[in-house]
Amino acid sequence: MERKGDLIVISGFSGAGKGTVVKKLVEKYGYSLSVSATTRAPREGEVDGREYYFKSVEDFQLLIDYNGFIEWAQYVDNYYGTPRKFVEQEMEEGRDVILEIEVQGAMNVKRQYPDAVLIFIAAPSAEELKNRLAGRGTETAEVIEKRMKRAAVESDDIDEYDYIVINDDLDTCVEKVNSIIVSKKCLHDNNLSFIEEIKRELKAN
Ligand code: ADP
Ligand code: 5GP
Repeated sequence: MERKGDLIVISGFSGAGKGTVVKKLVEKYGYSLSVSATTRAPREGEVDGREYYFKSVEDFQLLIDYNGFIEWAQYVDNYYGTPRKFVEQEMEEGRDVILEIEVQGAMNVKRQYPDAVLIFIAAPSAEELKNRLAGRGTETAEVIEKRMKRAAVESDDIDEYDYIVINDDLDTCVEKVNSIIVSKKCLHDNNLSFIEEIKRELKAN
């Protein structure tokens, strides 16, 4: 029987490397990645429709009004939201969808989709986190400070996640996250129709 795709939520403090991990997961394993909408300005090299759909606050508000988001949240000085249509369609067609979103959004998704897997990616230490964030070179010192403060607030929500993966060595982290996604498919409750079918076949013999 055709199964619907799984929803995989990946969060982590800004600079932990989740964007890098997700990109590798998509390239290597072909997961479907939801492209969010945001009101923040594009970073150098970011392309509209690839990293994000870049929106004005007015257009973002319209999408909220039309129920266009599964969830949306304010993060530091901007809004971010997950477009509803893409995610619902991909899952319906049996594809696993990754959402790379912050913690408020993740909690919101968990309420609506209790089967979603929530994975939190952490840097090995706060110092390494700050080094990575600064090393990325995409934010001003002021924004880096705001993001580090936000990480301190977000750290109180880590307990809500199903899995914590430390992104020390990148490839190891990617493999661990993939293993989590793969093992979800083997959960007993995700194979109920298979179990019923094989029972029927065996007993018919
Ligand atoms: P996030 O999406 O969590 O904000 P990024 O994926 O943009 O973080 O990564 C932040 C910086 O850390 C980038 O410069 C990236 O190349 C680097 N980085 C990511 N993963 C690792 C890792 N395992 N070891 C060292 N540097 C990393
Ligand atoms: P950045 O500005 O670094 O791209 O993203 C900032 C934060 O917003 C990150 O934690 C990222 O995961 C989160 N984010 C990106 N898209 C969404 C979204 O659609 N919804 C929510 N709630 N958070 C998002």
